[in-house]
Amino acid sequence: MREFLGVDEALTLLQSRVAVPSRNGERVTLREARGRIAAAAVVAPIDLPPFPASAMDGYAVCSRDPIFAAAPPYRLPVQGTSLAGSPWPSELAVDHAVRIFTGAAVPPRSDAIVIQEETQATSGYVQITRRPGPGDYLRPPGHDVAAGAPLIDAGAQLGPFELAWLTACGQADVVVVPRVKLALFSTGDELRDAPAALGTGQIYDSNRMVLAELSRALPVDVDDLGIVPDDPGTIEATLAAAAADHDAVITSGGVSVGDADHVRAVIERLGSLEFWKIAIRPGKPFAYGRIGSCHLFGLPGNPVSAIVTFLLLVKPVLLQLAGARTQDPLRVAATLQTRIEHTAGRTEYQRGRYTMDARGLAVSPTSDQSSNRLGSFYEANCLIEVPRACGDLAPHTTVMVLPFGGLLN
Ligand code: AMP
Ligand code: MG
Repeated sequence: MREFLGVDEALTLLQSRVAVPSRNGERVTLREARGRIAAAAVVAPIDLPPFPASAMDGYAVCSRDPIFAAAPPYRLPVQGTSLAGSPWPSELAVDHAVRIFTGAAVPPRSDAIVIQEETQATSGYVQITRRPGPGDYLRPPGHDVAAGAPLIDAGAQLGPFELAWLTACGQADVVVVPRVKLALFSTGDELRDAPAALGTGQIYDSNRMVLAELSRALPVDVDDLGIVPDDPGTIEATLAAAAADHDAVITSGGVSVGDADHVRAVIERLGSLEFWKIAIRPGKPFAYGRIGSCHLFGLPGNPVSAIVTFLLLVKPVLLQLAGARTQDPLRVAATLQTRIEHTAGRTEYQRGRYTMDARGLAVSPTSDQSSNRLGSFYEANCLIEVPRACGDLAPHTTVMVLPFGGLLN
């Protein structure tokens, strides 16, 4: 058991506990494949483009034809027209041109396109004002990707661009790693779900909502097991059942040292607990353990703490369990606009908003940063990372920010 690990150390340790699964892949259509992880490498089955194509509207010519030995201009008879999807069927005749449009197949023997802007058309002829060179405005076959070249590596996450590339290569489906089976529940006697009315001392459970929504971007199937009271027997029964048929379980609340905090003791009874007091703020109480092969993440109950620990410590591990290659979240430098008070000891993640000004990225924390305040996320677009060892940060200090654009995908 180790205490007060740095955030990076904790993540490295967590990731070392997760074996990359060797499950059989499943074949899904590309429409179903968004966010999934490729189970095997995909090699381009065809050249893209499949034929020599024109990159511009203009005239297909052969730059080696005798007419081009002289200085411009050149006057050539126009032999025909090649449109996208309707190619000119015959070979380009010597000292001739074929009218051609973007994406159209280049006629055999042609090796250059003269762009429309460098021509004047007269009936049946074209006047060309510049000498063409071999390869001008041509897209050779395989220019995007050549048949047999690697398209997608095993472990790549399939986003819109990868799916478009597979589609352009004529693929209709792809073999992906099965989704991670994730169970989620909240612990706390005070928690209720709307539309139930709140009694004194009760609050609505928001952690299941945010954790399920954050998981939606991942190749994960979430089973929402609801709210479990602060009762060790009920927590134990729920956790044991969840661990039996899920790859991972996330709980929130009850991992600290209060009288009603039972999650850690239950994990210890059912399996093994590696509890790290991580040097992170918000989110210090964070439990990780295993029951059999199931990974357990006990997140703190405070909503901001649950979100920050999920994004920085749980999400990368879920992606790894899903077969993805590990990747650090994007960090960019920004100039702090206001003072941040910070006591050395824990890496702090404040919610902030960055904007672009003439000098580059500028960032300010949003409103009150208390760890219960979901309001601190309102209009935030990043986390501001305040290093563990530093004290107060003065305005104009350079800080690293983690844009939500990178964190949430
Ligand atoms: P705990 O980690 O159980 O000590 O909870 C810390 C704080 O977070 C308490 O104020 C709880 O009421 C609150 N909390 C715990 N779970 C949730 C939840 N699911 N949604 C919103 N607030 C919660
Ligand atoms: Mg609690």
